[in-house]
Amino acid sequence: MSDAVVTDQIVPFMIDHGAFRGRLVRLDDTVSTIVSRHNYPEPVALMLAETAVLAVVLADSLKYDGIFTLQSRSDGPISQIVVDVTSGGDVRGVAHFDEARLNAAVEKAGGIAALGDRVPALMGSGYLAFTVDQGPETDRYQGITELTGATLADCAHAYFRQSEQLETAIKMATVHEGGRWRAAGLMLQRMPLPSGAHLSAEDEETVEDAWRTGVVLMGSVTNEELLAPDLPPTDVLRRLFHSEGLKAYDARHPHFGCRCSRERVVTALSQFPRAELETMKTDAGVVEVSCEFCNEHYPFTDADLDAMDADKAPKQ
Ligand SMILES: [Zn+2]
Repeated sequence: MSDAVVTDQIVPFMIDHGAFRGRLVRLDDTVSTIVSRHNYPEPVALMLAETAVLAVVLADSLKYDGIFTLQSRSDGPISQIVVDVTSGGDVRGVAHFDEARLNAAVEKAGGIAALGDRVPALMGSGYLAFTVDQGPETDRYQGITELTGATLADCAHAYFRQSEQLETAIKMATVHEGGRWRAAGLMLQRMPLPSGAHLSAEDEETVEDAWRTGVVLMGSVTNEELLAPDLPPTDVLRRLFHSEGLKAYDARHPHFGCRCSRERVVTALSQFPRAELETMKTDAGVVEVSCEFCNEHYPFTDADLDAMDADKAPKQ
């Protein structure tokens, strides 16, 4: 692959003079890095990659300054997936699963390729929730929907239907090829009329027709087109919407990024009495904390723990 090709991108666009807006998201390095940090089994990697691209699609459609989190909690083999996306474009993710139940579910389906109903088979019953955290002085915005349907896109559709949000269509695709994961997502939304605007019955019908056309065109895109590294996102959009007055905007570039740091771990460890920290030591005699998102290891030697104690001691 040429260095000039930027694979991870979000291309926002509009069609039909802005009546409908959307975005095409491609994640390559981002999902490959998230998955490789944990060495997740294939079905877990697949659901995590799909959750990551859905999170980026949803996050990018909101105006926020902070952290967007998409998370599932369920009773199936994969009991939890968390992906968060900062307004700066940092994406990270983690999954919790039961390996024995996972293997049993894949075996029952006749292999991972035969897993059509991924959500019920791998995640089971539960919910999908998202929150937007913009800091301590602000309201947390939260949306929640049951895990219904075969795929995460089905769950997202159910959410938009129930919550009286904008009419929304989403399509997602993932592939594991040559040791790398790639994921893509395409979203189309029907924009509200400007406040005070009013459509005649005839115009209303025209817009309705145009929306249906847009959704049908979107549905015609193949997984291969969505994912092909040699097919730029703007070309995919042009293929689909060239007759609908497509206007594509400058791409944004999401990337893998974790907010963990040694300072944060020190703050967390400082909550524990020294005697308790002593019980956490490994055979090598260090306390080792790993970030659950990026798997970065933070070791603390006796000298480090002594220094933390000295910081905690009342200053003379
Ligand atoms: Zn981390």
